[in-house]
Amino acid sequence: MRIIMLGAPGAGKGTQAKKIAERYNIPHISTGDIFRANIKNETELGKKAKSYMDQGMLVPDELTVSLVMDRFREPDAKNGYVLDGFPRTIPQAESLDTALRESGGQIDYAINVDVPDASIITRMSGRRACVNCGATYHLQYAAPKKEGVCDHCGDTLILRDDDKPETVEKRLSVYHDQTQPLIDYYAQKGVLKEVDGTQDLEDVFRQITAILGE
Ligand code: ADP
Ligand code: ADP
Ligand code: ZN
Repeated sequence: MRIIMLGAPGAGKGTQAKKIAERYNIPHISTGDIFRANIKNETELGKKAKSYMDQGMLVPDELTVSLVMDRFREPDAKNGYVLDGFPRTIPQAESLDTALRESGGQIDYAINVDVPDASIITRMSGRRACVNCGATYHLQYAAPKKEGVCDHCGDTLILRDDDKPETVEKRLSVYHDQTQPLIDYYAQKGVLKEVDGTQDLEDVFRQITAILGE
């Protein structure tokens, strides 16, 4: 099963993608996580990506597409995946289509997690991310067992630099300009599914399993 998660920054794509990956036994591929791991390890790619990410802008398509294509070559991605944060532009979606055509695969579902902008700002200001393993929490809605400490690995939780309100506004405007057009793109292909992302996270997941099958 090949699945794309669509939705604004903070809509809950990552949260749901992790649950889908577990339930359906497919890898969760998050371009944001891959970029952050590269920044942490101070790779060339990380250095290039960081300046864009800090400003709330998208990393250029050519860098992003080649990174995803490399990831697809790993054996666990052979039978499917849930893509979180990719594609984010029409050219990225077209590159994905080309790659799938060449390998004989197809996207089965593009799930749009719909959350209005007004809720996004609160979601983001309460998001906390683990500096080590990338797990995400929310101060109100998905709190860690111990404040400031990751349940999974025990490392420190932080507010991501790009989750500060100034940068969130920029990211939302980038989303509306460059990513939202993908909703129509996948609707035209007949694979778009809408879910109401304002419900609590277990209810959002129930909507998703109703689409994907138990
Ligand atoms: P969120 O989970 O809030 O939607 P991500 O972790 O997916 O954020 O992405 C963080 C940042 O990484 C983005 O603001 C952007 O700078 C960069 N990024 C992630 N995926 C892509 C992509 N497909 N194309 C371009 N930039 C990307
Ligand atoms: P995205 O990957 O789309 O940027 P995340 O999955 O990281 O979004 O979610 C953004 C923040 O909102 C996180 O702090 C997460 O714990 C929280 N969150 C996710 N889904 C819900 C939900 N249905 N209700 C309330 N908070 C949520
Ligand atoms: Zn952790």
